[in-house]
Amino acid sequence: MTVKFLDLPMQYQTIASEMDSAIQKIVQTGAFIGGAAVKDFETAFASYHDAPYCIAVGNGTDALEIILEALDLPQGSEVLVPANSFIASSEAVTRAGLRVRFVDCDPATHLIDLKDAARKIGEKTCAIMAVHLYGQPCDMVALKKIAELHNLKIVEDCAQAHGAKDKGLSVGALGDAGSFSFYPGKNLGAYGDGGAILTRNEELAKRCRMIANHGRLAKYDHAFEGRNSRLDGLQAAVLSTKLPHLQAWTATRQKTAQTYLDGLSGIAGLSLPAQRKDAESVFHLFVIRSEKRDALKAYLAERDIQTGIHYPIALPKLEAYAYLGQAADCPVACAQDTTLLSLPIGDHMTPEMTQAVIDAVRSFFKG
Ligand SMILES: *Cc1c(COP(=O)(O)O)cnc(C)c1O
Repeated sequence: MTVKFLDLPMQYQTIASEMDSAIQKIVQTGAFIGGAAVKDFETAFASYHDAPYCIAVGNGTDALEIILEALDLPQGSEVLVPANSFIASSEAVTRAGLRVRFVDCDPATHLIDLKDAARKIGEKTCAIMAVHLYGQPCDMVALKKIAELHNLKIVEDCAQAHGAKDKGLSVGALGDAGSFSFYPGKNLGAYGDGGAILTRNEELAKRCRMIANHGRLAKYDHAFEGRNSRLDGLQAAVLSTKLPHLQAWTATRQKTAQTYLDGLSGIAGLSLPAQRKDAESVFHLFVIRSEKRDALKAYLAERDIQTGIHYPIALPKLEAYAYLGQAADCPVACAQDTTLLSLPIGDHMTPEMTQAVIDAVRSFFKG
């Protein structure tokens, strides 16, 4: 049995007729930039996360950059960023004229290690980025305590965590602002690039919207220089068509994850991802750890089971960050990257596929 890591054509087949008519409507009305489809999606996406303000933008990386710019932090000040994430998390910091301070990750949950974060706060620290990695929310109550104590802004990177909840509260507007990505492979994916910003702060929402739209609110009235970052009408229509299905797709991910957690427990040499109490992960990824990662990956590939690695090189070790020299400060993330393996998970997974993965992993460790 082939088990794909991601199966977007299959997802399309399940919603083909409503998707086709949503796309057709945009093409027929010519509302390619702005318009009702974008507004409607912003309203629906904000409501999905109990957030008052949503600004749709071009992609998740832009969303992060625009938030950081809108926060108007002192140039050159530091932002705490987890060492285990996609480069967009740290890239946005640098591009906003700020400095990255990498924080190690918790070995069991892979999320930002808040003890290490607290240790690394200095005079120049101005913000902390909470990356809800693999779909699991960070402990926002503990994170907020640290942030309040040291007067830090909180930016949530929710690119992998659409609809995830910490203590019953949706991610995205738990800190100052949150960014989302609609890259096709994310839990809610466009048919191209897309992103969004959520916030409870009206003034910040207005600044983000202006930055994303050439520094203006009205057509040729520019208060400052911004940029062009927008979600187009077609992508908004695609996302609005998918959003009502997201809860069911997430439930499939959660069920698959639970089956993995049960079926793969008690294997010597294999660590399962720890789940935080009081948190609801949306399992964008299901990441296991093994010293035999490369052999296991090859073994599964031979059996037609696709896997991924998120991420193969911890951020502080990348050539892009050699100038910071912070790899030694993040020993867990910098050692664990050779052991991480992402098993297939998504709305395409059937119970048979999940079982096939479990059987193959078990037989690898028996052999
Ligand atoms: C995908 C991703 C991003 C970037 O989103 P894009 O839409 O691809 O720009 C940022 N952070 C994390 C953690 C991601 O997984």
